[in-house]
Amino acid sequence: MRRLLRALVVTLAIAGLLMPAGIAEAKVKKTTRRRSTRSARKAPKPVTPGPLAIGFTVATPAIALTFDDGAANTAAIVSILRAQDAKGTFFVCGARMGEASEVASAVANGFEIGNHTYDHVSLYGQSYAYDAAQIAATNNSIQAATGVRPVWVRSRSGQIDATGMQAVRDAGQSYINWDVHSQDTDWSLTSTQIEARVVGSAHPGAVVLMHATRPETLVALPGIVAQLKARGYRLVTVSQLAGMGSPRFSSETKAKAPKKKSKPKAKVTRPSGRSRSRRRR
Ligand SMILES: [Zn+2]
Repeated sequence: MRRLLRALVVTLAIAGLLMPAGIAEAKVKKTTRRRSTRSARKAPKPVTPGPLAIGFTVATPAIALTFDDGAANTAAIVSILRAQDAKGTFFVCGARMGEASEVASAVANGFEIGNHTYDHVSLYGQSYAYDAAQIAATNNSIQAATGVRPVWVRSRSGQIDATGMQAVRDAGQSYINWDVHSQDTDWSLTSTQIEARVVGSAHPGAVVLMHATRPETLVALPGIVAQLKARGYRLVTVSQLAGMGSPRFSSETKAKAPKKKSKPKAKVTRPSGRSRSRRRR
C-alpha cells in the first residue's frame, strides 16, 4: 500500500513538473503566432539597405535624366531629347510594357532602360522571393522587348530594404535612386515650376528623377534640356554617367519606409478629367 502511495506521489510530482512546461510551450507557440500576425500588419522595422546610390562623382559636367513609370510616352520623350542631342534613361514597369516597340526604338537610339519593378511596387518590407520575382519578371519583359538586359533597378518611390538590395545584387544588377527630384509628382506644379526645379538643382553627376506619365514634365522637357546644355552639361544615360566616375551614396543609414496612406482630404479642388489614382506615383 505504502509502495503504491509512493508511486502515486512520484507520478503526480513528475506530472506536476511536466505540466507547467507543457503549458509554457503552448503559451510560447501562442505568443509567437500572435506576434507574427501583428508584425504582418505593422510596418516593418527599418533596416540598413546597404549602399544606396543616388548620383555620381564625375570630373566632367554630365547629368543623367531619368523617367519613371513608363513605358508610357517613351517615343515622345526620345524625340524631345534627340532633337537636342541628349540621352536619357527610362525606368519602366514590366506590367506597362504595352509600348514595347517604343522601348525597343529608344534602345536602338542609345537610350537606356531600367527596371522599375513589374507591378510598380516598393521593395521595402517584402519577402526575398517577392522582390526577386518582381525584378526577374521585369527583366524578362524588357529583354523580350529590347534584347537588352537592364543594368539598373529602381523601386517605387525609391523604397528598398536590405532584402530588396540582396535580390538586386543576386540578379547581377545595381540599384540607383536620384539626387535631384523634379517634384513632378506634385500635380499642382506647372511645367515652368518643374523646369525651374530641375535646372536650379542641377549639378555634375546628378541623377534627375522625372516621370514619363506626367504631361507637364513633357512640356517642361525641351526647356530643361536647352537650359542644361546652355550651362555646359552633357545629358547621358545612367550607365554612361556611372562610367565617368564613382557612385555617391545616400547619407541616410536607413531605408525609406513606405508612406502611410493618409486619409483623403475632405475637399479636393482639382481640374476635372484627372483621376486621383494618377497622382499616386
Ligand atoms: Zn514609380
